[in-house]
Amino acid sequence: MATSQKLAGKIALITGGTSGIGLATAQRFVAEGAFVYITGRRQAELDAAVQLLGQSVVGVRGDVSNLADLDRVVALIREQQGRLDVLFANAGIAEFLPIDAVTENHYDQQFDINVKGTVFTVQKALPLLPDGAAIVLMSSIVGSKGSDNSSIYSATKAAIRSLARTWTSDLKARRIRVNAISPGPIETPGLNNLAGTPEQVAQFKAQMVGAVPLGRLGEADEVAKAVLFLATDDSSYVAGVELFADGGMAQV
Ligand code: NAD
Repeated sequence: MATSQKLAGKIALITGGTSGIGLATAQRFVAEGAFVYITGRRQAELDAAVQLLGQSVVGVRGDVSNLADLDRVVALIREQQGRLDVLFANAGIAEFLPIDAVTENHYDQQFDINVKGTVFTVQKALPLLPDGAAIVLMSSIVGSKGSDNSSIYSATKAAIRSLARTWTSDLKARRIRVNAISPGPIETPGLNNLAGTPEQVAQFKAQMVGAVPLGRLGEADEVAKAVLFLATDDSSYVAGVELFADGGMAQV
């Protein structure tokens, strides 16, 4: 992996850093010189990720929809580092259901993790972020385009696009840059767990590939590279945008 130490000396927090895009971004950030805190809900997955990522990483167990967990994560970073330079609020779950099958539990879970989790991750981290820090929020192509049977998930990701714009204005006195990353279909464990049977998953993926102008699914590291751009001075005059890493899908 070619690197140029763009995050040398920086402290970063990535929620949901044990798998898929979060894990690939942690790998990128470490390669660029950052010290990275990753969170996840399961200790075994955290341990495996930390082992893979090496010494510049701390894994902290925590559910983003649980405010006490978030307090614990932030308290640990405060105690060990005293500050946080980059926040990537990535943790999220995707479950697709047609509207007539949506249950209260499905709705609550999607919104609790994807929206409430993002809101309070940012709120709790703000006191640790110096002026000029970078926040990257995880949205999705479906937040603007939708996708069959994904109304609740898509609505959570539309909320994230909105938060990036509003917080850019709210945080202007501190010159904190808030941007959203919106991936298209990316080959991750999250994507592969999306729809029931292996045949359904394969069919869904084939459908997605057909809708992507570049004609393939994206790799997690291709999103990580875009997140890196938003997290570093390379994007020093970029704020409040939604950056698509989607093989052109948003444009067709
Ligand atoms: P993944 O399932 O491979 O990884 C998700 C990560 O989030 C894991 O580390 C998981 O442990 C963590 N996580 C889930 N719920 C959590 C919670 N309550 N608290 C803390 N951590 C939690 O999925 P992925 O595909 O890498 O997705 C990462 C993010 O990217 C999600 O927000 C997802 O909605 C978004 N996204 C993914 C795609 C895609 O095609 N893969 C496309 C657009 C957006």
